[in-house]
Amino acid sequence: MKAKNGDFVLPGDPLGVTEEFLPSEWTYDDHGEIRSLVAGTVTIDQKNKKIAIIPKTKSPAILKKGDVVLGQIREVRGQRALVDVDGIKDSKRSLPITFLGAIHISQARKGYVDKLTDDFHIGDIIQARVTKVMGVDNADLTTAESELGVLKAMCTNCRHFMKQIGKKEVKCPNCGRKETRNISSNYEG
Ligand SMILES: [Zn+2]
Repeated sequence: MKAKNGDFVLPGDPLGVTEEFLPSEWTYDDHGEIRSLVAGTVTIDQKNKKIAIIPKTKSPAILKKGDVVLGQIREVRGQRALVDVDGIKDSKRSLPITFLGAIHISQARKGYVDKLTDDFHIGDIIQARVTKVMGVDNADLTTAESELGVLKAMCTNCRHFMKQIGKKEVKCPNCGRKETRNISSNYEG
């Protein structure tokens, strides 16, 4: 499918191929396929063979290496915690799409981590730094800084948010369960 001038597209929508067009503002090259980075209107420069997008939102936020982001742990499996990245810290602009972040066990904290489940559980609200952005919606993250890590821990037993009771320990006010976490110095609760 090829986009036409004036078409409204969403992030990831195909616009054309790099054999015919140059990817320009708010687009990216996905193995030869030009796709939109953001929701917006297609603008095609036939003379210069360029495809660009006029974003629907004025200057939408795009993740960059070094950004501190907020997200929620979606899954912890083996060496990786997967995070739904919802926004950039201290930015009023919202991300045009939810990024999927991944924290590798080697990036969880300074020092050795035996089990990633000692650091994160599903539902935890976390703060992390972007180390690499891949494609339109994937990012590698690190939490190996004192202000990074878990901001709110979700009890694995009853899904209430937990209170911090030690450097690495949290306790559920609802069911009394104690668990460990990679706790941020900005922990809320
Ligand atoms: Zn609980």
